[in-house]
Amino acid sequence: MSEAISNTNQDLLLKQVKPFFEATRSGGLANIFAVWLVYGIVIDTQYQANAFLLGVVVSIVSVIRILLSDEFIKCKDQSKNINFFLISHLFLILIIGIAWGMFALMQISQEDESIRNLVYLINFGMIAGSIATLSVWMPAYIAYIAPQAISIFSVLSIQATHTSLYMALAFFVFIMIMISTSLMVNRSHKKELALNIKNNQLINELNNEVSHRAHTQVLLEDSKRDLKQKVKERTLELETINDDLTKEILEKEKAEESLEYIAYHDELTGLPNRNLLIERINNAIQIAHKTNFNLGILFLDLDRFKTINDSLGHNVGDKLIQGVARRLQKTLRKEDIISRNGGDEFVIVLQQMENSDEAILVAQKLIGNMTSIFEIDGHKIHIGVSIGISLYPHDGDTAIELLRNADTAMFTAKKIGGNCLQFYDESMSNKLRERLILENELYTALERNEFYMVYQPQINCRTGKTVGFESLLRWQNRNLGAVSPDRFIPLLEETGLIYEVGKWIIKDIINYIRTNRIGDNTVAINLSALQCGDIFFVDFIKNEITKSGIDATRIEFEITESLLINDFEKTETFLNELHEIGCSIALDDFGTGYTSMSYLTRLPIDCIKIDQSFIRGIDQIDTLKNIVKAIVNMCSSLEMKNIFEGVETAAELEVIKQLNGEIVQGYLYSKPLDVYGVDNWLANNKTNVSHLRIKH
Ligand code: C2E
Ligand code: CA
Ligand code: CA
Repeated sequence: MSEAISNTNQDLLLKQVKPFFEATRSGGLANIFAVWLVYGIVIDTQYQANAFLLGVVVSIVSVIRILLSDEFIKCKDQSKNINFFLISHLFLILIIGIAWGMFALMQISQEDESIRNLVYLINFGMIAGSIATLSVWMPAYIAYIAPQAISIFSVLSIQATHTSLYMALAFFVFIMIMISTSLMVNRSHKKELALNIKNNQLINELNNEVSHRAHTQVLLEDSKRDLKQKVKERTLELETINDDLTKEILEKEKAEESLEYIAYHDELTGLPNRNLLIERINNAIQIAHKTNFNLGILFLDLDRFKTINDSLGHNVGDKLIQGVARRLQKTLRKEDIISRNGGDEFVIVLQQMENSDEAILVAQKLIGNMTSIFEIDGHKIHIGVSIGISLYPHDGDTAIELLRNADTAMFTAKKIGGNCLQFYDESMSNKLRERLILENELYTALERNEFYMVYQPQINCRTGKTVGFESLLRWQNRNLGAVSPDRFIPLLEETGLIYEVGKWIIKDIINYIRTNRIGDNTVAINLSALQCGDIFFVDFIKNEITKSGIDATRIEFEITESLLINDFEKTETFLNELHEIGCSIALDDFGTGYTSMSYLTRLPIDCIKIDQSFIRGIDQIDTLKNIVKAIVNMCSSLEMKNIFEGVETAAELEVIKQLNGEIVQGYLYSKPLDVYGVDNWLANNKTNVSHLRIKH
């Protein structure tokens, strides 16, 4: 710091004295010129020799000064050597000053005052002139003028003449003026210098500021660019991180999904496992609760699986389980829940069941499907399945409870020999067993000739004449005795036996008509929905009629409304074909279904059988009367016959007559009769039956 300050001072000094060195040449030359001028003035005096000496001294010293100054100006490190040069100059200037002082002193004994004055005037001139060259450095100026001033003043004072005293005074004033002038010059030089320095400083500062600003600007631009680059890099980095993160999240989700899948699915079959099953049952319970439907839980356990697994190996066992799973999926509907409970156990949940029969049907179907052979790795494997069934809400209202009860039922199924189904509720199982027995008996009923037909007379209530008979199927079983058609006819349909039994009925009735025991009355035959969809059945009927040679108009077919809704097109073709050969068609149980009027007009319907639910109490209930009246009107406008079935009382008959009813059928006249009964009926009631009492 102090070094820096001293350097600055040195620089200041350098600047201050620079003009001093620069003016040395002119100053030196002026001194040489002046000294030899003085010599010229005193050349004829006694001082000539001394003056010459002084002239030589001043000249030499001046030349030295000039050379030194040149040296200094050329010097590279001026500030470092300045002190040396200044001191040397000061010394030399002092010598010159003293030399000039000597000239002045020599005038002390000068007789010629004009010479003295001339010399002194030159002295004055040198003193005044040196202001220009020396006043920038006051020590030099003082060193130059002081010896001269002292000498001149001393000489003038010592001479003490009027002129000398006056001159001394004038000289004193002159010196004062010179000193103050040189001081002023010095000060203004310094001031100027300071100003200059300050200006330079300011300019420097300004330049610095400008370059600093420019630098800052550059830095700013740089840092801006850096920042931009960094932002870009960071954005890229963040994007990559983001991508990685998204990937990670996706992978995590996938992992979670697969974990969840594993947690809820059976590895071997891909079916829901017990965990998911319980969740699904609980959901299904909620839905069933809201919609008032039933749920059926079927607990399946494969029979003989352990033996197969032990003898053929686990590999075959696993494949068998997979095969079973596939068969289950094929057999069941999409909305049914299939799950593997572990081992050889499967659970099936049937949703939206209307009654337990649906569960029976499914279970039987499953038993049937599982019984057919599995071919695995060249082995023909025969298994069975035991099924336990529990029902919601009948057998429990939680998943666990329903599963436990279905499991219990499955054990019972195993105990009684396996490959069968068992309800948790004993009474249901009993019903089921009865049904199974019934079914078994039904399969062989035809072979054993256990079916026979009965005929219920149909009477024209206006004339009292018998116009026809409705044939009704009866089953007299060897073990069960007479079984009601309401029980076995649905079973015939479910088992598909209706096709065979249906053919038997046709043959039996045609044969009956052919024997002529029933006279010229028509015989109505009931057809179930399944039969009406079977186009081969039409051919069969046609064939049988042709073969027998009977008049086709003697046969009337009864179809129910539900059949129309099932497959209208097929039914239409079926009925048209029958109608074309002369058979008539009756719409049975009219009013219990949802027959659309357009169906009635499009189909070849000749007769409408008004269901007995409209007849029961018709003599008492006016609304029924009005409905029936409307139906009768409709029949006449459509040119259809009407038959009232289930007429039990004379009162009912009376109303039917009033309403312009045509044909009646019911216990009031007769229950369905066997062929002997028909024989009797026809024998006793050849013309009119209106007066007859009811036969039981
Ligand atoms: P459906 O066709 O409506 O037959 C009339 C049913 O009403 C018969 O019952 C008959 O015995 C009964 N019935 C007749 N008059 C009266 C009466 O005054 N009062 C009461 N309460 N009932 C009366 P069934 O013979 O038990 O037949 C029941 C149903 O079984 C029949 O209803 C029919 O749908 C079906 N069915 C009967 N035989 C056959 C058949 O050969 N083939 C087909 N596919 N279905 C048949
Ligand atoms: Ca009928
Ligand atoms: Ca009926």
